[in-house]
Amino acid sequence: MKTIFAVNGPDLCPELFSYFPKSNVVHFDSVADLLLHLYTNRISGANTYERTLSLVIHQQPKRRGRSKPVGLQSSPASDAVLNKITTAELSHLIQKQFPTFSLSVTTPTDASKAVAHLLEREQLYSNRLVRVATWMYNDYVGSNEPYTGHESRPAAHSHANHDSYSPTCSANVYTMLSHLTRVRKRRKDQDSSFPSSKLISSALDLRKLINIPKDKLSSDHYWNLISTWDFCATSLSTSELIWCSFLILKKVAQDAGFEISDNNLFLFLLTVETSYHQGNKFHNFRHAVDVMQATWQLCCQLEARFKKSSSILLVCVAAIGHDVGHPGTNNALMCDPLSPVAQLYNKSSVLENFHTEIFSDLLQEHWPQILEEQSILSDTILATDMALHSQYVEQMDAGPSEQPNLLALVIKAADISNVTRPLHISTKWAVLITCEFNECAALLKRIKGNDTYESYMPECEEPMPDCVESILIKYPSIPQGQLMFINAFAECLFAGLAECFQELKFLHNNVKANKKFWEGKCK
Ligand SMILES: [Zn+2]
Repeated sequence: MKTIFAVNGPDLCPELFSYFPKSNVVHFDSVADLLLHLYTNRISGANTYERTLSLVIHQQPKRRGRSKPVGLQSSPASDAVLNKITTAELSHLIQKQFPTFSLSVTTPTDASKAVAHLLEREQLYSNRLVRVATWMYNDYVGSNEPYTGHESRPAAHSHANHDSYSPTCSANVYTMLSHLTRVRKRRKDQDSSFPSSKLISSALDLRKLINIPKDKLSSDHYWNLISTWDFCATSLSTSELIWCSFLILKKVAQDAGFEISDNNLFLFLLTVETSYHQGNKFHNFRHAVDVMQATWQLCCQLEARFKKSSSILLVCVAAIGHDVGHPGTNNALMCDPLSPVAQLYNKSSVLENFHTEIFSDLLQEHWPQILEEQSILSDTILATDMALHSQYVEQMDAGPSEQPNLLALVIKAADISNVTRPLHISTKWAVLITCEFNECAALLKRIKGNDTYESYMPECEEPMPDCVESILIKYPSIPQGQLMFINAFAECLFAGLAECFQELKFLHNNVKANKKFWEGKCK
């Protein structure tokens, strides 16, 4: 829903309502209230802020006796300080804390100009496939550093944006290139002048945003869920996923002697969540939490083999960030047609390089201690590139001395561990990845000009049936797809792992049991 968020009582000019319905104006008395509203809607799924372009009109409160921007102040931050930030600082904060949101920030004076920008770009949001194409192929940079690529992109997706950029009158259209450009700019400027996360964590009690039923909280309910291989992330709400991640990271951080306060850890997790596209069928925060839980469980099995106590923390953190900003497609579609981001990475492990760079920036803001082991972070995230799969399998076949880096192997196994989960869990993941693949196929068809974007009907919108048999009636291609994946990729990896590490034999047994079931369905 396209919404105007009016902060601190700005005057709203009539031109605004050429784009926004009058009923879609929400008023806030403070920046803190705005942020709480954004988090609450995102967590509940009421608004993902990815489907439409919304606008924050920020009336800056009058300042007395203060000439320096907030970032340079040394006094402790609080709710009041958060509310005194400038509109440009608020724009910066929104882009940093809610990177995938299509939410622009403007002043009352610039509002009508900002709406003109939104109107120009509205067609980039008309349906899911158009949005995904925009994220991937659009060369919208969103800063005054122009994109310098020379390759031509499909005209339908390209939107030349060489108009002068102002943080308060532009349309904040999410594109992978704009995300990466911001991250690179921050790194180049060594941007630590505006402490957006510090301001938020001192002003808001973030635990209150996480909605967990009281009866489940008072028991060991979630601890029991995350402590087994039967963990089923597909049946948990976003609040529950954040809560489970909090429990795992709190434990491994304590064991490793890495300090992070509860409020900062919640803010880190909320920012990781908003760095994933909630609308993706498979590559979203749910998958990230699933991979982290699997990574942690595998690490628990292999604990005696790790030399440093921080290894488990580092690989768990890498796991929850390993797909941030994922467009819900794949490297092949990133490279053909050539996206600006694929061009920047020379078509090599494009998404994995992108995730690593985006996530390193996030850690720099929220948990810089983790970056002391930057190589572990990048090595493990890059290991999830399926193009390297056979390399890993061959290295394991060569015997224990040739084993690739154990942490990389753990995250790689966790990333494709859906087929090793109990059948009823494995089947649900299979549906989600199938829907995402089908979406990629539909996108490719439209890129090649064989279909129109407007005709696209999204799948899997209704809730998934609970039992395996009902799922298979609705999605009859699942058994064949699962067998193909197990035969081509999973079985050899998990057999190799079982050979090298007795502790992981259960993975191979599970994959064999699931394979047998799918073979029975294909007869
Ligand atoms: Zn993944």
